[in-house]
Amino acid sequence: MINDPLALELIHEVIDEEDEASISIVECLIKGKVTDEEIAESTEIRLNIVRRVLYKLYDAGLASYKRSKDPETQWYTYTWKFEPSRVKHMINRRHEEIIAELKNILDYEENNMFFACKNNDHRCSFEEASENGFICPKCNGEMEYMDNTPVIRQIKEELNIYESYGFEVDFQTAESNS
Ligand SMILES: [Zn+2]
Repeated sequence: MINDPLALELIHEVIDEEDEASISIVECLIKGKVTDEEIAESTEIRLNIVRRVLYKLYDAGLASYKRSKDPETQWYTYTWKFEPSRVKHMINRRHEEIIAELKNILDYEENNMFFACKNNDHRCSFEEASENGFICPKCNGEMEYMDNTPVIRQIKEELNIYESYGFEVDFQTAESNS
């Protein structure tokens, strides 16, 4: 049902429930059960937990609801709807943040020279190393020039993964599943 690992991770974060079964509340909603009672009945999860999860989804913008009044009983009914587009949006936004952060790091790595302690317990920029007289502040060992090409390559690979992935999340909704 929720077959995208990123979407699943995001939903887990949002509902923040210890109980793994809580995800079935979300899946039930996606499948088209629209009221808290229907979901509670179908999942056999207590109504108050179902409601709590639904409101967490709502708070995060991942679900919306409509309120309607029963003309006979005068009671309000809430019909819920999952919002897959918001999931995509949130994942995309998160990726954009990560990409921006990685670009900052890449920029720093590409525009600085690095030194590392020969005991391998400290790494710093040229400026920092020269301020310390090329002596490691942790162990007084010697600081030596360190080629950061592998670091740069790793950042670029990571950037590539984020830039080429996740902008079209495959997210099955009730419609596409039937
Ligand atoms: Zn050291």
